[in-house]
Amino acid sequence: MDIQAIRKDFPILQREVNGKPLVYLDNAATSQTPQQVIDAIVDYYQRYNANIHRGVHTLSQEATDAYEAARQKIQKHFNIAHSHEVIFTSGTTQSINLVATGFTSFLKDGDEILVSAMEHHSNIVPWQMLCERTGAILKVIPMNLEGELVMEEYHKLLSDKTKLVFCNHVSNALGTINPIEEIIEAAHKAGAPVLIDGAQAAAHIKADLQTLDVDFYTVSAHKMCGPTGVGMLYGKEEWLKKLPPYQGGGEMIAEVTFEKTTYADLPHKFEAGTPNICGGIAFGAALDYMNNIGFDAIAEYENELVQYATEQLLAIEGLKIYGTAAHKTSVISFNIEGVHPYDIGTIVDKLGIAVRTGHHCAQPIMDFYEIPGTVRASFSFYNTKEEVDKLVEGVTRAKNMLL
Ligand code: PLP
Repeated sequence: MDIQAIRKDFPILQREVNGKPLVYLDNAATSQTPQQVIDAIVDYYQRYNANIHRGVHTLSQEATDAYEAARQKIQKHFNIAHSHEVIFTSGTTQSINLVATGFTSFLKDGDEILVSAMEHHSNIVPWQMLCERTGAILKVIPMNLEGELVMEEYHKLLSDKTKLVFCNHVSNALGTINPIEEIIEAAHKAGAPVLIDGAQAAAHIKADLQTLDVDFYTVSAHKMCGPTGVGMLYGKEEWLKKLPPYQGGGEMIAEVTFEKTTYADLPHKFEAGTPNICGGIAFGAALDYMNNIGFDAIAEYENELVQYATEQLLAIEGLKIYGTAAHKTSVISFNIEGVHPYDIGTIVDKLGIAVRTGHHCAQPIMDFYEIPGTVRASFSFYNTKEEVDKLVEGVTRAKNMLL
């Protein structure tokens, strides 16, 4: 991988912050956007901005073709059997809410649904709301100090009461890659479907959804070089047919009368209203961009970078990393004894370094470690070892100022 050439694709990486070259290490929150994706957005608005699906005029047809071509790119990328199993959403949060709302009529008092201990709030709260509506019980698959799920406990939790299991593929707060193959297989043996939150994984791992045999998988485009406000829900056809529509409106109907409305076929049944047309097209462009580099090359490079950063950061006395799983990717969450993470984040920002501080929308993980939050440096394929060195320098400087 020619990192310097790749970096030139990202205009934002040329900018300065507080008089210093930007070192962007907040990729787990959102990734940066290459010129190729920006061009796709500009091209849409300059040449063929129009509403899709019902227009007979040329612009509408061009926009429809580009939007549906993006759906097919997503289908191909994730090895999905049918393009109608790809539902465009506004992102992972909406994808999970769609499924959680749809399961309301499938659950009853006393049913159990299993969540992992290391979820983002968006893979916890919609399910708690589902439990409130139905009387189902939320059970938690515990984790250990390394930040790995305790799989023996997971197997013990599964029973004929289990109606659904949900877990992230990669933890945004710790970087752990969860053993989703084992999770899916065991859940299926117990008769329960599985939703995997792929928000954090998708930029690093090309998931093959047919081989995984997963029932639902969610992605946010903005974490993989695409724009904000667009993402996807993959659902197996059998489940998407069973689930009721999430929202009512235009696009999602077959026929409307005041007496009775019938719904459109998949995928439109779940895509009420004018979608984020440009966002969908740009999501496709982002997949093209990343596939051109290649996910194997990306994973190899990022692993090298994370290993280097781990070694360098651990050389700072008093620094502790949370999440030391054998299988992890692209995230290093840490604290320095006696220093608040927020103070480190603020000082390194003055040096042009963007890291995230706080609970990373995963408060139960922070409670588990009995800490208020961490500093999180999260990496992408366009980061460099020189940037890691700047981070280490910045954190050392912050420590010396604060202690
Ligand atoms: N799940 C995980 C693991 C995440 O990292 C995130 C975002 O940080 C989300 C869900 C929510 O994604 P979005 O805000 O794009 O809906």
